[in-house]
Amino acid sequence: MKQVVVLGATGSIGLSTLDVLKRHADRFSLHTITAYRSVDKMLELILAYEPVQAIMACPDAAEQLASRLPTESPTRILGGEQALVDAASDSDVDVVMAAIVGFAGLRPTLAAAEHGKRLLLANKEALVSAGRVFMEATRSGGATLLPIDSEHNAMFQCIPANNRGRPETAGVEKILLTASGGPFRGRPRSELLGVTPEQACAHPNWSMGRKISVDSATLLNKGLELAEACWLFDCTPGDIDVVVHPQSIIHSLVRYDDGSVLAQLGNPDMRTPIAYGLSWPERIDAGVAPLDLVSVAKLDFEAPDLEAFPCLRLAQEAITQPGGMCILNAANEIAVAAFLAGGLGFTGIDNVIAHALENVSADEPDNLEAVEALDGRARACAQERIEQLEHDTRGV
Ligand code: NAD
Ligand code: MG
Repeated sequence: MKQVVVLGATGSIGLSTLDVLKRHADRFSLHTITAYRSVDKMLELILAYEPVQAIMACPDAAEQLASRLPTESPTRILGGEQALVDAASDSDVDVVMAAIVGFAGLRPTLAAAEHGKRLLLANKEALVSAGRVFMEATRSGGATLLPIDSEHNAMFQCIPANNRGRPETAGVEKILLTASGGPFRGRPRSELLGVTPEQACAHPNWSMGRKISVDSATLLNKGLELAEACWLFDCTPGDIDVVVHPQSIIHSLVRYDDGSVLAQLGNPDMRTPIAYGLSWPERIDAGVAPLDLVSVAKLDFEAPDLEAFPCLRLAQEAITQPGGMCILNAANEIAVAAFLAGGLGFTGIDNVIAHALENVSADEPDNLEAVEALDGRARACAQERIEQLEHDTRGV
């Protein structure tokens, strides 16, 4: 029996993970689930799954949850960020699903890496921000890092196992990172000025949390994924081409020196990569409907529009700048939160990121504290820029 921690259990990836685990109760046992402060959802999950522990990152929410838990429940309630780190490091635990959204997931995810867990990585912001620090923790801790992001999971499936750290020695000529193009694909920038959070979050193929949905709409998500692929497969941005594929059926491809191209296909359902991460190198049922190619009928491809969606270009540049992806990620988190709250326009997101990349100077952070300090400086810079833009639009 593998003991599993699901960080971010109440989210989109977290719930899909619980669904896959439920189908394989003979192999996996739920040790810990965590959430930020959604008490109602957490209570439902505790009653349905009876994990050993349930942790609310927000201590007040933990108190509320404890007061509502039936006395006969076997689940222990804990609160606070350290409890997340402790769960991810617990010697009883084998598998950690890192599915907290954003930089907030870095500490517990890193703890799982340092303690040699099978680490299922959905939380790309943690890897992209901490970069070398994260990869070094994975190596020294002896963790098994398995990508859950659908594109990276596809690449992982298409690159031979003995060459995953060094694709060039496997005869890999190019990695092709697919992008759906998001809900605004095909629109010129002038039409993006007034789009609303609801429109941005209405992804055509995937049902996801609001932050990653906005990232998909700006193509910033593809920029994070470019950096993610560079770390996971030890390559450079020049080794990777982004190709827009609106149907999200091909999850990425690998082109070899001999002209062969291997792709991984499947319905757009995150339970496929989650199940593969849980069972690798075996395969288990994920509850996903078989792919029906006749009903899909057509697979289209086009180049990304970097004029309308400059966030991808900003990321391509940031990858080459010391600490650039940490700055980009932090500025994006602040900008997306402001956009979702109605305090920043959609095209303001890339403006804020570009401003932070220009104005925050950095060396490549080489430890967690340096990563956190850089993240903090970039957030402050982004916040100032948002206030300035708001001030300008009000004309005062
Ligand atoms: P979500 O918003 O649906 O869920 C986020 C989870 O994180 C929730 O459980 C929430 O309680 C928790 N959380 C939020 N803030 C927290 C904090 N400060 N401290 C502790 N916990 C906190 O997000 P999601 O769509 O499930 O995405 C999760 C991660 O997976 C993101 O990094 C995203 O980029 C990545 N990802 C998601 C998908 C997808 O299909 N949803 C696909 C690929 C990668
Ligand atoms: Mg993805």
